[in-house]
Amino acid sequence: MRCDDLEPLLTDFLEGDLPADVETEALEHVAGCRACDLYLAEYVETIELVAEWGGEALPTEVSQRMLAAVLNDLGINGSAPGTGS
Ligand SMILES: [Zn+2]
Repeated sequence: MRCDDLEPLLTDFLEGDLPADVETEALEHVAGCRACDLYLAEYVETIELVAEWGGEALPTEVSQRMLAAVLNDLGINGSAPGTGS
């Protein structure tokens, strides 16, 4: 598994929805890949923030949308952090 393979699986990975063999591959990749380890940590942190703001865990499709917005807001998707609010 490569970084590009892992990224689209992250949500299912975190929710435990991946097939066991895929999950094992994902875990092995994260264990050996500093970039994905950090990415995953940020991802989890963001989900926790979103859940905190919402007061409860959000349905996946909603949290994914919010996550995209939050990541964008934080300037985590490749773009430099902006000064806009
Ligand atoms: Zn990786």
